[in-house]
Amino acid sequence: MHLARFPRIKLAHGPTPFEPMPNLSKFLGGPNLYIKRDDCTGLASGGNKTRKLEFLMADAVAKGADTVITQGATQSNHARQTIAAAAKLGLDCQILLERRVSDLGDEYEQSGNVLLDEILGGTIAGRLPAGTDMAKAMEELAESLRAKGKKPYIIPGGGSNAIGALGYVVCAQELLTQSFDAGVRIDHVVHATGSTGTQAGLVVGLHASNSGIPVLGISVRAAKQQQEENVYKLVRATAEHIGLKSDIPREAVVADSDYVGGGYGVPTEGMIEAIQLTARMEGILLDPVYSGKGMAGLIALIRAGRFSKDENIVFIHTGGSVGLFGYRNTFQKTGG
Ligand SMILES: *Cc1c(COP(=O)(O)O)cnc(C)c1O
Repeated sequence: MHLARFPRIKLAHGPTPFEPMPNLSKFLGGPNLYIKRDDCTGLASGGNKTRKLEFLMADAVAKGADTVITQGATQSNHARQTIAAAAKLGLDCQILLERRVSDLGDEYEQSGNVLLDEILGGTIAGRLPAGTDMAKAMEELAESLRAKGKKPYIIPGGGSNAIGALGYVVCAQELLTQSFDAGVRIDHVVHATGSTGTQAGLVVGLHASNSGIPVLGISVRAAKQQQEENVYKLVRATAEHIGLKSDIPREAVVADSDYVGGGYGVPTEGMIEAIQLTARMEGILLDPVYSGKGMAGLIALIRAGRFSKDENIVFIHTGGSVGLFGYRNTFQKTGG
């Protein structure tokens, strides 16, 4: 694998903790649940984008950029972590936010990640309607900055390209080392999947090390077929980027889109239950858009008997709990 070949700027606290969740496991009557705490990557409250940004920001710096541009939904954890990384490295950061979710009120629009974006010194260069071609909007913004003599570097939404996905190839290696040290055989890895970089990196990393560990992505937006195709495309690009010799089969990419509910960022009963259970049994805060729905999917599959009781399941906590502040009404209405 030899990942040291790729430029990287250390931004994450690591290795992130790998811990059992004994109370939640017992409550559900097995299997044995473990959690990989990628909410603890440390950069301005952390999350999975920090690992990707270690490689993306190194590429931006190597290319002489003075500004980074990226995009996400209003409560984007990726935008917040990108602004923080840029601040640390002395780069300007311009963000385009897509109003992908409506009707969640002022706190969704202004609190949580949006508040932190402003404190961290990011420029919200635009708040665009749902369905905007965000990649094109970033190109146009880059063009206008170039016309002013700036050197912009575009980071795709979620930091999901073959460079960013390297962060999750690294995470796969880290997890295998931790599971060996703890003497825990891993039977499944489960996490929330959105822009695909996390799943693609994990699939490549776990495959390249010949671990045989399957990864299940719980989709937070796209339908199963579409999500699997998107992830597989990035799996291939990432495998090529690291020069992997063996082909990764299409069947290595599995997504489940049964827990999206009304759409991206739209609360579901399962998400609310998953967040409350994980908080009250393990003292761990998940997030309403990604890890809450990911855990809701895992809990539902456990209840449906998808895993045997003696299996060891690792849930990757991808972060995002500051987004809870944008969803106060969702939780206080339901008796939290
Ligand atoms: C972005 C994000 C995800 C999804 O990761 P992708 O690499 O975009 O698929 C999951 N959880 C949280 C908290 C995120 O911010």
